[in-house]
Amino acid sequence: MIIRARWLAPMDGRCIENGAVLVREGRVVAAGRWETIAGYGTKEVEDAGDCVLLPGLINAHTHLELSDCTPGQRPADGLEGWLTRMLTRTRIDVAELEGKSARACKVGADQCLRFGVTTVGDISRQCHVTRPVLRNGPLRVVSFGEVMAMAQRRGLLEERLARAADEACASEFLRIAVSPHSPYSIEMHGYARCLEVAKQRGMPVATHLAETISECEFLERHSGPLKALWDSWLSWDQQVPLFAGGPIRMAHELGLLDYPTLLAHVNYCDDDELSLLARGRASVVYCPRTHEYFGHPPHRFRDMLAAGINVAVGTDSCASSPDLNLVDDLRLLHRMHPELDAQTLWRMGTANGAKALMMDQAAGTLAPGMRADCVAFPAADSDPLQVVLESHVGPCGVWVAGTKLP
Ligand SMILES: [Zn+2]
Repeated sequence: MIIRARWLAPMDGRCIENGAVLVREGRVVAAGRWETIAGYGTKEVEDAGDCVLLPGLINAHTHLELSDCTPGQRPADGLEGWLTRMLTRTRIDVAELEGKSARACKVGADQCLRFGVTTVGDISRQCHVTRPVLRNGPLRVVSFGEVMAMAQRRGLLEERLARAADEACASEFLRIAVSPHSPYSIEMHGYARCLEVAKQRGMPVATHLAETISECEFLERHSGPLKALWDSWLSWDQQVPLFAGGPIRMAHELGLLDYPTLLAHVNYCDDDELSLLARGRASVVYCPRTHEYFGHPPHRFRDMLAAGINVAVGTDSCASSPDLNLVDDLRLLHRMHPELDAQTLWRMGTANGAKALMMDQAAGTLAPGMRADCVAFPAADSDPLQVVLESHVGPCGVWVAGTKLP
């Protein structure tokens, strides 16, 4: 079959007027000008009309199981206060929490597809209940099972890691991955074990890194607002190792930067840390609306891109973002940096996201061999990629493996 549109942006730098994509068995065979693609002789043509056709969008960082949350007012007590409230939310009966997480996960997955997102990097603490919900698609998910193991929870490391890395639910739509949560919730040994297991099995790894300024103080001196959180949980012990040099140097020392690790946020990064990242293979996922919600200082994503670091975009969860509409994150970036080329922004939401999720052999562009996941947005005039960023329109068509979703 052929999907035809007024504009085609395969995310290889081109924006083709009167374009088309030839699809066979769910994969892209060719993408280019309609005249060329029509030459393949395929009779079945789906004409998307006056719109721009792109690869399905990629939300590289979210937590689908929190899709029943709403962000509310900007937290005056910062990320730390917000974390306390989020954790209180999970102090309910286990069965109730599991049911709630499974339902929210389904709501979030449906929302992603409605917004044209066909692949997500999903962090899941309740992965034993979210994976069965997600395994049959049509959303493609890299499911990062979350691992926390610090202080009095240290002994739970292997059990939690085994659950996170359990491949029982793996499918064509669901890839299993692990996420050591953050420098304030898992110790260096735990990080090293997660990385070791991921390397053995070729799994993606994600972590929240340099999300808040207080990570440095926590790692170096066991003090500050993050330590106060531990004190309020009464689960601290004296064996947590210290690390001087901040979370990015810690990731470097652990070998996380020598692996294609997904680093969510990296909101605090000096020049030396930026060059450490540039020398490594890790990707950064910037979550613009969540970043704005917490009121962090400007993100250095342009410096990172200029240094050759792969920067993708994510929404983070519905507890810090109004919804999972990734295009609204790109729109915010476009308003903040109108000088940035629209193609660069859309690549952050497609090709760069695929790379961050170790999915670049399957998604993120419409190159031959890729899965035929596409999204179309209404755009009749020239410069369609910019036009969509300056509008409020949603997708007029979403395809997964060449099949249009209802
Ligand atoms: Zn997150």
